[in-house]
Amino acid sequence: MTERFDAVDVIHAKRDGKPLTDEQIDWVIDAYTRGVVAEEQMSALAMAVFLNGMDRAEISRWTAAMIASGERMDFSALSRPTADKHSTGGVGDKITLPLAPLVACCGVAVPQLSGRGLGHTGGTLDKLESIPGWRAALTNDEMMRQLDTVGAVICQAGSGLAPADRKLYALRDVTGTVECIPLIASSIMSKKIAEGTGFLVLDVKVGSGAFMRDYDQAVELARTMVALGKDHGTSTVALLTDMSTPLGLTAGNALEVRESVEVLAGGGPKDVVDLTVALAREMLDGAAATVEARGVPGASIAAGSAEASRLAGSLRDADPAQALRDGRAMDAWKAMIKAQDGDPDAPLPWARETETITAEADGVLETMDALAVGVAAWRLGAGRARKEDPVQAGAGVVLHAKPGEPVRQGQPLLTLHTDTPDRFARAKQALEGAWTIGTSAPSAQEIVRTRID
Ligand code: URA
Repeated sequence: MTERFDAVDVIHAKRDGKPLTDEQIDWVIDAYTRGVVAEEQMSALAMAVFLNGMDRAEISRWTAAMIASGERMDFSALSRPTADKHSTGGVGDKITLPLAPLVACCGVAVPQLSGRGLGHTGGTLDKLESIPGWRAALTNDEMMRQLDTVGAVICQAGSGLAPADRKLYALRDVTGTVECIPLIASSIMSKKIAEGTGFLVLDVKVGSGAFMRDYDQAVELARTMVALGKDHGTSTVALLTDMSTPLGLTAGNALEVRESVEVLAGGGPKDVVDLTVALAREMLDGAAATVEARGVPGASIAAGSAEASRLAGSLRDADPAQALRDGRAMDAWKAMIKAQDGDPDAPLPWARETETITAEADGVLETMDALAVGVAAWRLGAGRARKEDPVQAGAGVVLHAKPGEPVRQGQPLLTLHTDTPDRFARAKQALEGAWTIGTSAPSAQEIVRTRID
């Protein structure tokens, strides 16, 4: 087959700061997926994009080309509207676990296609795999059936969605081109749009444990992704949320599942509950708006009909905080876990060894750095350095205090969990200087900092 372009000309154009044409973008993504553009050529192009950026039109076309590289899922046959959530990743971020069943029990189907963790942020599938029997891989038919019955699925994303991104993300990981807003935004949104959800809420983390440490950059990433969602017909809202300190009191797979179950039982740490409820509210309101605009074809509800406005009204009236308190979300969680062969009542694994770090002074815990805790949990065995590495289900870190709380000298501050005690030393190294104890409480930080739509 004669190729329409030469990869070197496309690289030259971006290297020299010129915008790429639609045709160049379509070709380079397709030819890279086919193996015609070599890895070293795509590396050079990714670095040119990293250095010179892409404008709105280029990012949108780049995203469209990555979506077109694979299949697109279609949930229009479902009897309920759909909504999905994506987090840019943070330490102790277990929100998907309580959120999916919570939104499902309020009447919206949640197809949550997830991945495994790499580096200091954990992966949702790794967390759920600490539940005895639970299975991450589902066929499309199994997923659809579960969405129609239980209403929530958290499973492994198939390799057919945006294969160009799969290749490109792995390449960026080893060529120093991950931290680039056009490439991050198009990578995340190509997968999410290909997943075919009706509404998407983005949890864009900002702070030391996040991709984006800087507030203005996080806002720019959120705006770019929201605009991409709109360009491609997926109504999208973003919440910018704090990731300067870990979310909740646990980082690590089974430890986070336990904390999620506490939230589903109506308890759990305030920040986890607040964020779960805030994201659920967005998903219910977003689903209500899509019901009004598009109806629910799988339930024969037409856009603009009386039935559509009744359903939209009931979604807007749903009270997710109440559904956590009254056990409905817990029932949906148990059904979701059982549908994937997991035993929601089986004891979760604990690590074989623990070591506790105590406070060195009386005072108020002023800070507890998210990145340091994430790296410590990772070194204890909760995360992996290479994608083929195994993870320890019980490994991780438990916090005994959050910033703003009083502490006494000698009281436990953190407990480290691992099956392999020779990991304690390197985990403790990661935690050097990770917290400060002072005399005054830091001003209370709301978990949700800004909303972008
Ligand atoms: N997550 C993704 O899926 N892609 C990126 O580029 C960054 C985070």
